Amino acid sequence: MARPAILTVDDDPMVSAAITRDLADRYGADYSVVRATSGAEALVLLTRLALRDQPVALIAADQRMPQMTGIELLEQARTHAPGAKLLLLTAYADTDVAIRAINDIGLDYYLLKPWDPPSERLYPVTDDLLSDWRQANPDHTSDVRVVGHRWSDRGHDIKLFLARNHVPYRWYDVERDAEAQRLLGLAQASPADLPLVLVPDGDALASPTTLQLAGALGLHTSAQQPLYDVCIVGGGPAGLAAAVYAASEGLSTVIVEREAPGGQAGQSAAIENYLGFPKGLSGADLTHRALAQATRFGAEMVLARDVVGLELRGPVRAVLLDGSGEIEARALVVATGVAYRRLAAAGLDELTGRGVYYGVNASEAGQCQGDEVYIVGAANSAGQAALSLARYAERVVLVVRAATLADTMSRYLVERITATPNISLRYRTEVVAGRGDGHLEALTLADRESGVTEEVASSWLFVFIGASPRTEWLGADVVRDDKGFVVTGQDLAAPAFARRWPLTRAPFALETSVPGVFAAGDVRLDSMKRVASAVGEGAMSIYLVHRYLATI
Ligand SMILES: Cc1cc2nc3c(=O)[nH]c(=O)nc-3n(C[C@H](O)[C@H](O)[C@H](O)COP(=O)(O)OP(=O)(O)OC[C@H]3O[C@@H](n4cnc5c(N)ncnc54)[C@H](O)[C@@H]3O)c2cc1C
Repeated sequence: MARPAILTVDDDPMVSAAITRDLADRYGADYSVVRATSGAEALVLLTRLALRDQPVALIAADQRMPQMTGIELLEQARTHAPGAKLLLLTAYADTDVAIRAINDIGLDYYLLKPWDPPSERLYPVTDDLLSDWRQANPDHTSDVRVVGHRWSDRGHDIKLFLARNHVPYRWYDVERDAEAQRLLGLAQASPADLPLVLVPDGDALASPTTLQLAGALGLHTSAQQPLYDVCIVGGGPAGLAAAVYAASEGLSTVIVEREAPGGQAGQSAAIENYLGFPKGLSGADLTHRALAQATRFGAEMVLARDVVGLELRGPVRAVLLDGSGEIEARALVVATGVAYRRLAAAGLDELTGRGVYYGVNASEAGQCQGDEVYIVGAANSAGQAALSLARYAERVVLVVRAATLADTMSRYLVERITATPNISLRYRTEVVAGRGDGHLEALTLADRESGVTEEVASSWLFVFIGASPRTEWLGADVVRDDKGFVVTGQDLAAPAFARRWPLTRAPFALETSVPGVFAAGDVRLDSMKRVASAVGEGAMSIYLVHRYLATI
C-alpha cells in the first residue's frame, strides 16, 4: 500500500512552503507530504489520492483563504478522507471560530500561527495526531489473527484481551470466512483447537489462556526485581497516574494489571470531561498515552496477572499472584477500581460472552452491524455505549428502570441520545430473562408498573448497571465498608472502625488501616468515581508514599 499522505493547504506561498517543509522534515520518511494552495486544489488532490487508494493521515489547512475557508474545506474533506486528522492553522482572532469547529466539524486541533520553533509548537501536536491515526489505521501485515466461532465465550475473552491491550488483530469467523478454513489447514488445527490464535513469527496457539497469549505476545507476566519501592495493583487511571508519578520521582515501581491497562476508562468511547481535552478523548487514547508515559519513566508492567492475596512481612508488603509468584515492595497502592455488577435475570449467566456482555469493546461494536441491540442501564456509561453502538447497529434500545434519565445521566448525553434517530428508550422496564441455544436469541422485558412481559428477538445485550469493588484479596487487616470499598485516612477514625489503626501517628489521607498500604481511585470509600479524581488520587498517593517511606 502507498505511504499515507499529509496534505497542507495555504494560499500564502511563504506559509505554505514553511508548513510543508517542517512537516516533510519530520515525517517525510513515513508519509508523502503534498501541498495545495487553495481549497479547490486540495479537493482535487484528495479525490486523486482516494482513487489511488492512498490513505490521508492529516490535513493541515489555513483558516483564512479566499473562496473557501479552512473550516469549509476540512468539512468537505471528510467525505474524501474520512479518517484523516484535521488541523486548522489560525490567527489569534479566529480562536472562537476554531473552538466552535471542534463541535461542528470534528476539528481535531487548531494551531496558532506562527508555530516557531516547530519542535515546541508544531511537532508535539502533529506527533500526537499522527500517532492516533496510526492507532486507528494499523499496518495489517503484522496483525495477530484469531480464528473462532462468533459466539464463543473464550473467543470473546481473547478478542477483548487483544483489543484492550492495543494489539491489532484480525478475526475470522469459522462459519463465515473462507480464510478461516485456510488458516486452520495451515496450522494443521481441528475445530477442537478453536479459538486458534496466530501470532506473527510465532506458533499457532490452540485455545490459549490469557497468560499463554500474553507470553506469546511478549508482554511481561512476572516481576523482574526481588523488591520494589512501590507496587501498584490495578492499571486504571489511578494506577497509571501513580506509576507515572512514582517512576518519574525515582521510586522503583511495578504495576500489576489482571486484564488490560486502562481499567473502566479504557472502555469509554469518549471522555469529554477530562481537563485539557476540549474535543474529548477515547479511553483507549488516554490509556495509550498514560502507558507510554509510565513506561518512559521506567515503571515496570506485569500484565495478565490477578493479585489474589496480601501478606505483611515486617516492613515489606507482599502481593500474591494467581497461580504462582509474588511481588514484594516497601509500599503498596491499591487501585483496583470497581467491576460491573451482574444482571440478575434468568438465563443470562450461561449466555455471558455469547451475546450478553458487561461493558462493550470495539470488536463487539463492529459485529453488531445491522442488528438490533439492547442496553441495560441509565448512567453515563450506558449512554456512551448507546451512542457508540448506534453507529453500527440498525437500532439500539436502551432499557431503563426509572421513568427518566435526567437523574442519572449527564444532560449532554441525554440530549444526544434523544437526537439520535436509531436509539429508542424503554422507560420503567427491566430485562427479566434471556434465552438462546449457544448464544443469546431472545430477551424477556417486563413493564415495572403493569408487570406485563414481552419477548423480543435480540442477539446482543450490553449491561451497565453499576459496579462494586472486588477487594476480598486484601484480607482482614485492611478495613472496608460493608460493600467492600476501602476505608482510608480520616474515615478510619469513625466509631465503626475504631481501634483498627495500629500507630500513634494519624493515618495519611489515602492510607488504609495497614500502614504503608494506600488506596486510590474508585476502590476507595467515598471516592468521586471519575477519571480526573482517580488520576488525582493516584498522583497524591505517591506523595503520601514518600512521606510514609520517610517514617520507616
Ligand atoms: C463505560 C464507562 C465510561 C466512563 N466514562 C467516564 C467519563 O466520561 N468521564 C469520567 O470522568 N469517568 C468516566 N467513567 C468512570 C471512570 O472510568 C472511573 O471512575 C475510573 O476509570 C476509575 O479509575 P480507577 O483507576 O480507580 O479504577 P478502574 O478504572 O476500575 O481500574 C482498576 C483496574 O484494576 C484492575 N484490577 C482490579 N482488581 C485487580 C486485581 N486483583 N489484580 C490486578 N488487577 C486488578 C482492573 O482490571 C482495572 O484495570 C466511565 C466508566 C465506564 C465504565
